[in-house]
Amino acid sequence: MTRIAASAYRIPTDLPEADGTLSWTSTTMVLVEARSDGHHGIGWTYAPAPVAALVGELLAPAVEDVGVLDVPDAHERMCRAVRNAGRPGASSMAISAVDCALWDLKARVLGLPLHRLFGACRADVPVYGSGGFTTYDDARTREQLEHWVAGLGIPRVKIKIGEARGGREERDLARLRLARLAIGPDAELYADANGAYSVKQAVQVAHAAENLGLRWFEEPVPSDDPAGLRAVRDAVECEVAAGEYGYDLPYFRDLIGAVDCPQADVTRCGGYTEFLRVAGLARAHNRELSAHCAPHLHAAVMAAIPNARHIEWFHDHVRIESMLFDGVLDPDGGTVRPRDGEPGLGLAFRRPDAERFRVA
Ligand SMILES: [Mg+2]
Repeated sequence: MTRIAASAYRIPTDLPEADGTLSWTSTTMVLVEARSDGHHGIGWTYAPAPVAALVGELLAPAVEDVGVLDVPDAHERMCRAVRNAGRPGASSMAISAVDCALWDLKARVLGLPLHRLFGACRADVPVYGSGGFTTYDDARTREQLEHWVAGLGIPRVKIKIGEARGGREERDLARLRLARLAIGPDAELYADANGAYSVKQAVQVAHAAENLGLRWFEEPVPSDDPAGLRAVRDAVECEVAAGEYGYDLPYFRDLIGAVDCPQADVTRCGGYTEFLRVAGLARAHNRELSAHCAPHLHAAVMAAIPNARHIEWFHDHVRIESMLFDGVLDPDGGTVRPRDGEPGLGLAFRRPDAERFRVA
């Protein structure tokens, strides 16, 4: 019997954070713990606290009698259990956290590091520094970018643009110029508009940023507009990326031809079970796959994907995962290496440290 428990923790940000279409001052993590025969697996998602209740009501009963080695069976049963609740959104984040916890549990039962359970094809996975919130002043933006590039040797960084739903284009471009100056001529510069621009505006911004060597333009337009993404992609030099709101495989089927590099997130798409399918779909379309956020959940699975591009070393989540888990990874030199000496994810939840943030 596999027992599933979910809890939620709301952690204030270190500074107010915003992108092109959202602002926030805290981030909530829903943690799932899966227990069987003295073994203990963990998974999580960054989602509103009620997702923990959804896990308890719909998913825990659906997987309790599934064999601990049969995670795809548990995944299938969870997808069936949320039929009337709807798969995209909260249900899929709940499924994702349970699925990740079940894979961690299986690896621990077998005494294997998670990337060995999946079957590794690389020792190191590239990361890129991600943050550069529109709420930062120039000094903070420069400090963060220098920390990644000069301090940690990460040769790829991303900042948020599209401020005020695309209403501050001149500041967006000024911040891209500041970023290029801060990181020097060689590091790769990425921008994420979080869907803030129209197609024509996105194309204009991309052209204006060409002389800055803009390499990657994420969600230049809303990602529920594949035709718009494709139109931007066809008109600009830089790569167009999207996919962080992909909650199931059919979404990626419809998106993948519209972008140069799809992104997927194990905390949203349906956990490792679905993430591996998305990687296969990307491979079939001759695309690499980039991992969105939650870097410590992505390292092991990305080490097992031949067409893996990189993991987003997202400031907000790096900070939270470093506060709440022992065994976090070191991005020095621009890559992370899943540990061989530890079973599962190799992480231990710091329950006493987390308790003061608990909200469910
Ligand atoms: Mg993004």
